Amino acid sequence: MGKLIKEEGAEGRLHIDTPMMGESLVSKAFLQSTEAGEYFRMHPDVNVLKIGGQSIMDRGAKALLPILDELIAAKDDHKLLLMTGGGTRARHVYNIGVDLGMPTGVLSKLGDKVSWQNAEMLSVLLAKHGGVKIGHGDHLEQLNMYCRLGNLPITFGIPPYGFFEHPAELGSIPPHRTDCGAFLLAENIGARSLIFLKDEKGLFDQDPKKVPAEQRDSLRFFDRISAAELLAMDLDDLIIERPILKMLQNAKCLKQLQIIDALHHPEHIQPALAGAHLGTIIYQEK
Ligand code: ADP
Ligand code: MG
Repeated sequence: MGKLIKEEGAEGRLHIDTPMMGESLVSKAFLQSTEAGEYFRMHPDVNVLKIGGQSIMDRGAKALLPILDELIAAKDDHKLLLMTGGGTRARHVYNIGVDLGMPTGVLSKLGDKVSWQNAEMLSVLLAKHGGVKIGHGDHLEQLNMYCRLGNLPITFGIPPYGFFEHPAELGSIPPHRTDCGAFLLAENIGARSLIFLKDEKGLFDQDPKKVPAEQRDSLRFFDRISAAELLAMDLDDLIIERPILKMLQNAKCLKQLQIIDALHHPEHIQPALAGAHLGTIIYQEK
């Protein structure tokens, strides 16, 4: 390569002159200089909806079908991308893997199939309404086309880490699962919104399921809180995967996310899409 550049000279067509030449791409000062004033958003009117695996899909028809009715009704007014969680089957395979002492990347590969199964199930259920299962490849650039044609694109929430999953801060469960996948995709396509459909009203200071019914009134509910505050609070448990908090603080396009109780209130989905403040909103605080 060096020889070719020499032969062609600095003006030659084989010489690529680029301002980043010679940079390690590690220098903080250099990286700061790459910050865009405004980031390009590919799908600024697509709403990403993550349908919980454990919180929704594992509960079967009774939970899922009323939610699908709302999504079918919503798709004419809103562009939607549905993303699926894993849930109990992923937890089962993690449990066996943990028992065998498997490292995080192996667990990641074991668990990723479940969110794919849930996407398959959704696409079957929604097929006659335009549901179409798409992968994480070229179809994501075509989301706008699917939505305009009246389709309801569905993809699996699991991000493609596999053997490349980061070591977990604590233990071995892969830290980036389907909540993170939905977040990362929404951020990188420049989505209009990211809404998590779960089975609790939103974020409390503890997991409400681990508090006896008679003590639930004493839980603190957060209807709106910044990711920075939540990071500082360092709660023991959260309703969304923990890495999202740091990602949201660093996000370029997505400035907030919303968590709603779609299990008990499927009728909240359409108002949330229209901008109603239901459930919990977690926002970026710089
Ligand atoms: P999903 O299937 O949507 O990924 P998960 O079951 O993984 O849902 O996570 C949602 C659950 O998180 C809730 O059902 C709730 O029991 C639990 N949870 C843990 N910590 C909290 C918290 N601080 N506030 C609210 N819910 C919490
Ligand atoms: Mg989860």
